[in-house]
Amino acid sequence: MNCHDFLDALDRAEGSPYDGPRGAEALSHAEECPSCAAEAASVRAALSLLRLPELACSADLAPRLSALLPFLPAPRRIVSMRDWLAAGLLILAGMVILPLLSSFGILGSQYGTRFTLPLSLVLGLVVSTYGTVFIISHLEDFSRRLNGRHARPAA
Ligand SMILES: [Zn+2]
Repeated sequence: MNCHDFLDALDRAEGSPYDGPRGAEALSHAEECPSCAAEAASVRAALSLLRLPELACSADLAPRLSALLPFLPAPRRIVSMRDWLAAGLLILAGMVILPLLSSFGILGSQYGTRFTLPLSLVLGLVVSTYGTVFIISHLEDFSRRLNGRHARPAA
């Protein structure tokens, strides 16, 4: 089970992913992943406060709910690694296939080689943007892998 699966199970199980069908996997992941364990504890704390009976019956529900907001995890958009690889392959396929298209030949006969520099710049910008967004969105993952490698050099 990876972090994405764990957080998914956490959402589905409303704060108790260890009781679900993959509870043992979730528990072993939480033992080795401090960020997921902290997230699960935070969600459980917030949900237990929310489920207090006097909270549901009280008239001043809105200010008490807003007091709970710091406990809730910030919303995150998680794109799976499969989608990242698919997007990268799509960009790569586009770069390979584009010069093979017949319309590309027409472009070449119209403008000679004058369009190759701007086209190269655009493709370079696309690849750079993809790489930058990929690295920035996976910083936490990369740092965890690097720390894990330093902590267990023999493994
Ligand atoms: Zn995790």
